[in-house]
Amino acid sequence: MALRIVILGSTGSIGTQALDVVRRLPERFRVVGLAAGSNAELLAEQIEEFRPKAVSLACDQAAGRLQRRELPGLKILTGPSAMEEMAAMEGVDLVLNAVVGAAGILPTLAAIRAGKDVALANKETLVAAGSVVMEAVREHDVRLLPVDSEHSAIFQCLQGVRDGDLHKIILTASGGPFRESSKDELEQVTLEEALAHPTWNMGGKITIDSATLMNKGLEVIEAHWLFQLPPERIEVVIHPQSIIHSLVELRDGSLIAQLGVADMRLPIQYALTFPERLASPVESLSLIDTGRLDFEAPDLERFPCLRLAYEALTAGGTFPTVLNAANEVAVQAFMERRIGFTDIPRLIQSALEQHRGVMKPDIEDILEADAASRQYLVSLIDRHT
Ligand code: NDP
Ligand code: MG
Repeated sequence: MALRIVILGSTGSIGTQALDVVRRLPERFRVVGLAAGSNAELLAEQIEEFRPKAVSLACDQAAGRLQRRELPGLKILTGPSAMEEMAAMEGVDLVLNAVVGAAGILPTLAAIRAGKDVALANKETLVAAGSVVMEAVREHDVRLLPVDSEHSAIFQCLQGVRDGDLHKIILTASGGPFRESSKDELEQVTLEEALAHPTWNMGGKITIDSATLMNKGLEVIEAHWLFQLPPERIEVVIHPQSIIHSLVELRDGSLIAQLGVADMRLPIQYALTFPERLASPVESLSLIDTGRLDFEAPDLERFPCLRLAYEALTAGGTFPTVLNAANEVAVQAFMERRIGFTDIPRLIQSALEQHRGVMKPDIEDILEADAASRQYLVSLIDRHT
């Protein structure tokens, strides 16, 4: 029987690639619901092609534009809890969460609590609310399948590895467009330069996160929750070719890696068809053409965001929530050209320093820390500009 899926963030980079995976395997999937932010026009095309039962838009005006199109039999949801409703809908087997930012937290929890499997691209959910999400996964006995390429790689490497044999995780990072820039050059970085990622084509926020290396920091925290390892057993290695998507080191010293061309449709498809492997449109990798693979240590001096993420994870409780929220606000301000590139880590550090953490937080503590940190950062940026 076809897997009945809901895609949250269907109009984004991951969302549209997920629909491409679905398009190529029509007998395997039935798209029951789609959720987007404000892109009513692309959502309308997706409705035409995939015929979901329900859709949602975060933006009321966009929902109004969609309603005027008169799409008979389609339920259109809007308002603050629309995505949660979509995620918990009856007759759904799996929810792919591909929205960006902490907006993904409550829909993920709603899906898990309704007993759905979750394919998670939205790493911010685990960074901000990892303890609560993992507890819900255990309580409701659902699958949480990683979509992020590094975590999918680790998940693939761990198939057939017994519990307890995993010694260390090695996350690879391209290093972003400023891998070789000096500290002074980083002060002068423009938005256009930061948006030009060398190896991956992605949404705006994650592209900036990749340039600051915060993306890798968020991924360290994501890996901590998914694979239950402490920070000192999660290592980051710069690997500019983005061919090795990550590695695991086992108890006996063996390293196992997953390699391939950089194409997100592979990890998306694996999450949707796990444990099966099906043919995919992803190009096969030529090792001969690739020639060489390089590795170097990340520079935490030039890229303080990665250091801040390790520190927040080690501090625990609501510190990663604050890291994530402050980063979202700072990145948004950078994209609006209100602050400079190197202001991003400075502002996040300041948010972490003023935060009085809550240990063993529940979801209310997390949402509160998230909101307070956003407010703090907005006022800092207002003063700065
Ligand atoms: P995009 O910005 O391309 O897409 C984001 C999607 O979320 C869009 O569909 C957008 O809708 C929707 N959205 C944004 N805010 C809201 C909201 N408040 N309510 C409902 N929908 C909303 O992001 P990406 O696809 O690049 O990234 C999505 C997630 O996947 C992120 O967490 C990212 O870190 C992660 N990821 C992405 C990778 C990639 O290759 N892109 C790789 C690994 C992880 P609309 O367009 O209508 O505004
Ligand atoms: Mg990644």
